Amino acid sequence: MKIIKNILKVSAVCIALFLIGGFVYYLNYIKPFKEQMAKTMQVNFDMNLMIVHGGGGNSGILLLDSMVLVIDSKMDEAAIELHKKAINIAEGKPIVLVNTHYHPDHVGGNHLYEGATIIAGGNYNETMWKQETGLNQLPTIWVKDSLIIETKSEKISIVNIPNPAHTESDLVVYLHNKKVLFTGDVVLNKQIPMLLGSAKPQGYLSAFDYLSNRFELSTIIPGHGNMGSSKVFTDFKQYFLDMQEAKNNSGSADELIAKYETWTQLPFFMSPKATIRKF
Ligand SMILES: [Zn+2]
Repeated sequence: MKIIKNILKVSAVCIALFLIGGFVYYLNYIKPFKEQMAKTMQVNFDMNLMIVHGGGGNSGILLLDSMVLVIDSKMDEAAIELHKKAINIAEGKPIVLVNTHYHPDHVGGNHLYEGATIIAGGNYNETMWKQETGLNQLPTIWVKDSLIIETKSEKISIVNIPNPAHTESDLVVYLHNKKVLFTGDVVLNKQIPMLLGSAKPQGYLSAFDYLSNRFELSTIIPGHGNMGSSKVFTDFKQYFLDMQEAKNNSGSADELIAKYETWTQLPFFMSPKATIRKF
């Protein structure tokens, strides 16, 4: 009887410590991360292209001759604000929505685009999409290779990344005249990636080669973090090369990990060590 009592006592202490630990982790890391993620910042790239950072994933609104292209629909309040901006800019023209991948911070506003054309990566299908997103608003076009839109003012390539990188269904959008690449979460700016499920470091590395061989990279709109020059792309690529080196040569790991101290991260999930484990 005494043994059972002791086991119960130890279990209760363990559960209490686990709950306290979870709460402390939430207050110290998740809460500030969510608050940072909810903030938005608008940048007018030029007369026809607006970038809206944050509020979930970064988004773009591109005004074309006969339609408006919205890249990623954000989440929560920011999704509603983005949709309002798109309606204002469209002035009655049809809106076409592109989803760079199926994570909720990028597709959380899809339900606002009732009846619109929605474009997503073709490595996926409707059943998997519904399971991942819990949304009924399904994409209407699944791009297996690439989709080109050509208008008087702009040529747009919407390209499916062949091998799983961030997800098994990553789409990027390249604006040829402006030399702007929307990468979704295949590239982040000063943020450690969260490698969940099918995310593969080797997939990222092959995606970087695929994109730099295909496009002239001038302005990068990453999935999260500020837009910037091609350095955003090369810095993020270097992160993966460094983590690969840290895996292969453990003596250098501490030094390589320290290079990324200032990047946004969450211990255990979004951290250099978590990336190294995935290699
Ligand atoms: Zn994502």
